[in-house]
Amino acid sequence: MPATATTDGGASPSDAIHAVVTRFAPSPTGRLHLGHAHAALFAWDAARRTGGRFLLRLEDIDGTRCRPEFADAILRDLAWLGLDWDGPVRVQSQHMAAYRAVLDNLAARDLLYPCFCTRADIAREVAAAAAAPHGPDGPLYPGTCRRLPPAERAERVARGEAHALRLDMAAALRAVAGPLTWHEVGEGRLRCEPAQFGDVVLARKEMPASYHLCVTHDDALQHVTLVTRGVDLKPATHLHRLLQALMGWPEPAYRHHGLLLGRDGRRLAKRDGAAALAQLRESGLGPAEVRALAGFAASAAAT
Ligand code: GLU
Repeated sequence: MPATATTDGGASPSDAIHAVVTRFAPSPTGRLHLGHAHAALFAWDAARRTGGRFLLRLEDIDGTRCRPEFADAILRDLAWLGLDWDGPVRVQSQHMAAYRAVLDNLAARDLLYPCFCTRADIAREVAAAAAAPHGPDGPLYPGTCRRLPPAERAERVARGEAHALRLDMAAALRAVAGPLTWHEVGEGRLRCEPAQFGDVVLARKEMPASYHLCVTHDDALQHVTLVTRGVDLKPATHLHRLLQALMGWPEPAYRHHGLLLGRDGRRLAKRDGAAALAQLRESGLGPAEVRALAGFAASAAAT
């Protein structure tokens, strides 16, 4: 049985007192475990305690890792847990044209450029550089394709050469007025440092949009006012605020919660089969017991 400690010492979803719109946005790449239950309950509880709305979104743009059977299982597991959501479930893979439109908008403003580099190309360049700056996701892209002559760029795209789309970070920072901040519930306004991501990929060669793009687009479209998610995603907020500012999207508040830890003191992951909700259910536990294991002993609906 996994332990129920969290890295922030317990459930305290929001200090907001007005009705909030929250969401749980899992990627259907496997079965839900207790860590997901904690995240889902955190968002659900914040919405229900304030008389707000709780949305469910399936972030399934990575067709190589997401599977429909996992999507179905997520809905079943959440319903079994006693969670209800407002409105239809948004399934990101059904809205690729909307994400494409955002990319087209950024491209028309010269904030994106095609990048033809392979991972090996980038690794070689980074290794050759005297001092390669690092960001939250590893070494920063050295900017090779940003420096391509426009004619070569256009010719390679026209030829159908596979390419990612990268944000021109320096141009993006020039396009937004002044320094950006975000409101972290419980901490106040935090300064955004999006430059730490460098020229981040917004569409991959094999995937027509990125997590960062889709998540910010959908939070705006769905009028999410309080983004709750694990603290592991807190660094991404630096970039998400930049995308919101570039696109003129409203700014939600953020509340990054601690991660549920396993008995070994490490965060729960899919490798922890014992924490899978399906397995806990099969072992005879009821929804209330599983909610308690996920750190929400009394707040969820009675079953
Ligand atoms: N889809 C992301 C995940 O499963 C979560 C996105 C978010 O909450 O911002 O890790």
